[in-house]
Amino acid sequence: MERETGRLAPTPSGYLHLGNARSFLLAWLWARSRGGRVILRIEDIDQPRCRPEYRAAALADLAWLGLDWDAGGEPVPGAHDQSTRIELYREHLARLAAAGHAYPCVCSRKDIEEASSAPHGDDGPVYPGTCRGRFADAEQARRVTGREPAWRFRFEGPPLHFHDELMGDVTAEPVALGDFVLWRRDDLPAYQLAVVVDDALQGVTQVLRGRDLVLSTARQLALYRALGLSAPTRWAHVPFVQEAGGRRMAKREGDLALRALRELGTDPARVVGLLAFTAGLLPAPAPVRPRELLPAFDLRRLARSDYALQPQELAWLKAT
Ligand code: GLU
Repeated sequence: MERETGRLAPTPSGYLHLGNARSFLLAWLWARSRGGRVILRIEDIDQPRCRPEYRAAALADLAWLGLDWDAGGEPVPGAHDQSTRIELYREHLARLAAAGHAYPCVCSRKDIEEASSAPHGDDGPVYPGTCRGRFADAEQARRVTGREPAWRFRFEGPPLHFHDELMGDVTAEPVALGDFVLWRRDDLPAYQLAVVVDDALQGVTQVLRGRDLVLSTARQLALYRALGLSAPTRWAHVPFVQEAGGRRMAKREGDLALRALRELGTDPARVVGLLAFTAGLLPAPAPVRPRELLPAFDLRRLARSDYALQPQELAWLKAT
């Protein structure tokens, strides 16, 4: 049987925080507990938001936690990293466009928000389809509107079904999600296209990531199909760890950034132990190395709901 392959896919647009660390720890545990490979892919398309110092910090922070990988993660962008693969994504966009799956779109975010018929889905306003069938090609879109077009995927057809190892069977309706962006107006690939090309061509068989991306899995499955690429076979979308008080962890410069904890002299085994506790893998926070969690790891034991960190847990974390 082919070896399982998982991936860690950080976006170096800031310092990794405890929430990112937890998803990466769980992705690593899942792959390694199945004897699988781990790829470290840096999702650094969005220049200049992605900066070399964040890349270096992400690599150092993940190693500090005790995670390792078999491919990718070189000190400078390498073959696995998105910034070196732009032409590959462009070729796949061209394939989608040639097959009628993609079309140029000149709508701005404001246009979409203002379209009165645009219902709001889980991921913001659903694209109302304004530019579907409107232009023969990008050149015509530019000429008629004077705007640089983005490219969208024509997302249609019957409902998509997939099994999530934590959430169970998921069903998503293409019309409820709407046509999504494949290529941005600033001539950069969008997340959905890049991640599909990468996961397929890098041989990824299992994907574990935050629950905010569960509907993106439906979009991505449609892309694999349209491109004739084989999709990962196992999916797990994990709940979040939140700041004390239940706020979503977003500030990457804050004191819950791994970089800040490292500079404080925090024991990485405490970070791992606290995250494992919040995920339901330990009965109480205790210092532990990732590999020590492997023998008992079972994805089915993972907590199914978000966890708000308690002030006393953060105090324990920082006590050295
Ligand atoms: N790069 C994304 C992030 O940092 C992860 C995308 C994915 O796992 O598909 O949130």
